[in-house]
Amino acid sequence: MIIGAEVTVLGAGIGGLAVATALAQRGANVRVLEQADEIAEVGAGIQISPNGVAVLRALGIGPVGGASSAVSLCDGASGGQVLRMALPEGFELVHRADLITALAAAARDAGVQIQLGERVESVDADGTQAVLRMVDGTASRQDILIGADGLHAKTRTAVLGDIAPFFTKQVAWRALIPGRGEPAEARVFMGPGRHLVTYPLRGGALTNIVAVEERASWAEEGWNHTDDPANLHAAFAGFCPEVTDMLAQVEAVNIWGLFRHPVADRWSRGAVVLLGDAAHPTLPFLAQGAVMALEDAWVLADALAVHDSRDQAFAAYQAKRKPRVTRAIEAANANARNYHLAGVKKTAAHAGLRMINAVAPQR
Ligand code: FAD
Repeated sequence: MIIGAEVTVLGAGIGGLAVATALAQRGANVRVLEQADEIAEVGAGIQISPNGVAVLRALGIGPVGGASSAVSLCDGASGGQVLRMALPEGFELVHRADLITALAAAARDAGVQIQLGERVESVDADGTQAVLRMVDGTASRQDILIGADGLHAKTRTAVLGDIAPFFTKQVAWRALIPGRGEPAEARVFMGPGRHLVTYPLRGGALTNIVAVEERASWAEEGWNHTDDPANLHAAFAGFCPEVTDMLAQVEAVNIWGLFRHPVADRWSRGAVVLLGDAAHPTLPFLAQGAVMALEDAWVLADALAVHDSRDQAFAAYQAKRKPRVTRAIEAANANARNYHLAGVKKTAAHAGLRMINAVAPQR
């Protein structure tokens, strides 16, 4: 049904740009509406496992990062290695800005119209066509509206009702520092109630830091803000010199309250279908949130190309994606517990740690 179909995608994040490109390459007329005035990502790294890299390649996007050869789990206090898992070929460590730039270029090359500064106020999914109302008061009707508008998605509200995301009792700091000649792999330094992940970016020119701490509550307004690097340093004060030396180099840092929803029970209503974080936000401890959005994009575009009706395509997409995404999210939740154990429980628990390569490619 896809040739010549008019499709609107809400959100120019990783998921939105990927699905827009996949659909345009199959013959659809696609436009993307994005509230921001420019296409940008947070200044941080992202790990893309082979199942996500496979989608990028299928979209015609070449390597945008460096290869990753292993994940090493280290005791945060001593720095000693607990476990090293060699990764098969195909894992990439990518700067988010480089990935989003490549995705936007691929979308434009495929003929996608990207409209910036377009903020959607509300979505109504009750009729056969969706009604999209913009903050400037204009409204339009859509035959196919793909909700790739992230954790606070208006499209999710249209499909499932207005339910606020819940705080996972974890916060994450993200920072970049100058490269330190580390190996091309991800290292996880673990301690009670906290862990820190680090890996090189852009051929070692930068080192990416993601540091997570358990917190009882998130009292701040909004869900991310800048923080004083001293707070990050203090949170990891008992960690080994390698970690404290790295944190001493942090000059600017943001902190996120990690919020999520359960995996959506239904992924579509009428003309609206959800994708990526709008359908299934996850804790980042399996490095699969963006990768699942890339897989969603490919599977949804295929379903729309193969099935005769929109409703059949949406049903086939949900049936294929929901069980797999649910498994990945459960594995990420298990890692949250295992990474933050104290003392002797640690080594035994890590035998059961789920890693990103446990999720085989789905395209
Ligand atoms: P988003 O990236 O949230 O994009 C949504 C877009 O919609 C935005 O551009 C937004 O501006 C736009 N939008 C929203 N509302 C409106 C509106 N009303 N009108 C118009 N536009 C709107 N995943 C991995 O795969 N690997 C990792 O290593 C990894 N590490 C992570 C580390 C941390 C600390 C965190 C927090 C997450 C991590 N993730 C990782 C998860 C990943 O970042 C997300 O799952 C992914 O970015 C979701 O993409 P998305 O396109 O679904 O949504």
